[in-house]
Amino acid sequence: MHIGIDLGTTFCCVAYIDRAGVAKVLTNSDAGATTPSVIWFDGARAYVGKKANLMKELPGQTNNIFEFVKRYMGHPIELPPGVSPESLDMKEPWSREVAGFKYGAAGMSAIILRKFKLEAVRFFKREGYLDESFDEKTDLLDAVITVPAYFGEQERQDTRLAGVAAGLNVIGIINEPTAAALAYGLNHQEKKRIMVFDLGGGTFDVTILEMEYGKTNVLVTEGANTLGGKDWDELIQTHLFEAFRKKNQREIPDDKGFHVQQKALDAKHDLSRQPEVKVSINLPEGTLETVLYRSAPESQELADQFSMEDDKFYFEQSSTNLVSLCRRICTQAVSKSGLRWSDIDVILLAGGSCRMPMIPNMLEELSGKKIPRHVEGFDYDTAIAIGAALYGRQKGDVQDVIAHSIGVRIMENNRYYVDHFFEKNARLPLRAERVYAADAKATLAVYEGESIRPDECTRRGRVELNNPEGDVKVIMIIDDDGLLQVTAEYPNPDGESPLREALEIKNEAFISDKRIGPLKEKIQSIDYSF
Ligand code: ADP
Ligand code: MG
Repeated sequence: MHIGIDLGTTFCCVAYIDRAGVAKVLTNSDAGATTPSVIWFDGARAYVGKKANLMKELPGQTNNIFEFVKRYMGHPIELPPGVSPESLDMKEPWSREVAGFKYGAAGMSAIILRKFKLEAVRFFKREGYLDESFDEKTDLLDAVITVPAYFGEQERQDTRLAGVAAGLNVIGIINEPTAAALAYGLNHQEKKRIMVFDLGGGTFDVTILEMEYGKTNVLVTEGANTLGGKDWDELIQTHLFEAFRKKNQREIPDDKGFHVQQKALDAKHDLSRQPEVKVSINLPEGTLETVLYRSAPESQELADQFSMEDDKFYFEQSSTNLVSLCRRICTQAVSKSGLRWSDIDVILLAGGSCRMPMIPNMLEELSGKKIPRHVEGFDYDTAIAIGAALYGRQKGDVQDVIAHSIGVRIMENNRYYVDHFFEKNARLPLRAERVYAADAKATLAVYEGESIRPDECTRRGRVELNNPEGDVKVIMIIDDDGLLQVTAEYPNPDGESPLREALEIKNEAFISDKRIGPLKEKIQSIDYSF
């Protein structure tokens, strides 16, 4: 048995393949199809999902609640003493200490994933898919985990690490848009070009791919990894905060922030279904009754009438900048793919934020195409997990691409350059080798990014070689899952067969393999409450 996991920034979903070969969503312990990506620690216990979310309303719990951890994937837990992130070309460190243990984004994600593993194993045993002898603590469960197409190498490795620490056998790390297309592609036989527009809670991806007889080729992926429904929530929140201040001549206190956040979220969801929504806030500090509108009236007469009243909130008009950003990224993706809009057969929506009518409206206007809003068997929230489960079955038929160009640092005319081995959007798997004339004891450094200047790229790893002066052959391999392997080969001064040195693809301060052990042990020791 295997599961497909959509490990989302705000929501997760798990799917499996049933006896009849149909991909199904695995219902969670709260009887839901999706699980909020939120963790609440209560001493040695961890709550993941809905219950953790509710704890935000309790005073004094904020320090025990963790969310949006996916945004910190690829960040080191800590830096070696006296080292700045710039000097190592890496992201700002991120970690949170709970009961004396330091978790990074991978560690936090492992807690979420472990809950899914336990839920899946219990379900599989109950339904007779797994034998009673399967030990949920020690036996590994096969899993495919999805990541935004935007994720680079380090983020993918962190995701894999999270899976391993959770007791999963990670059989694939796959791009979310690819998974969405797989879920959709079941019904299609002839060749189609598909754009997957995935606007979730915290990330945005646009991917253009080709599908034929269940085979998927990703042509291009673009996106913004900090754009999502959360940004739309904030527009409403800000409005509510201001309206409250105006009416009551005082601020909403900090500890009521979550309450207002929740109201804003509910209002946003309602505005996807109805043209206006009434919001009331009743606090000891003051009250607010207000109506939020989805869009400004189109007729001039109505507009005039409306403008008489101050401070109206029109959701779509307030969102113009966000929608424009989505539009720009789509246009970019199409132009980079070398296609025209007319070459694209299907535009597919994924991610809960596509429920806001302004999104398909914008896409229809931009592409001149009809967007299917309700496709049978395809749900914005579950498609990616379904696709991940399907991928587990047909692994090998899908060709993914790399999200960033990758190469090694070379010196020419006394300046450093990045010599790219593979360009962004190159299809996996990849293999290339190049020979360089090198000084003795040369440094081999691998960089990810589009620029030829190392300081504008991210360093993926570095090793001091033991080579003699002369030719060094560098071999770079990226496997089907996008995992990178780099080796240097040079003549052995003391023998016949050449020497090889592998470059460890990790920055010095990233969680090293040595940490998998303690992390796994820690994650296994956590008690879960369902
Ligand atoms: P992610 O994959 O980023 O974790 P999802 O794809 O599950 O997230 O999308 C979650 C986002 O979708 C949240 O911002 C949520 O508020 C938004 N969303 C869900 N339902 C609706 C709706 N009816 N209207 C507007 N936004 C919605
Ligand atoms: Mg998502």
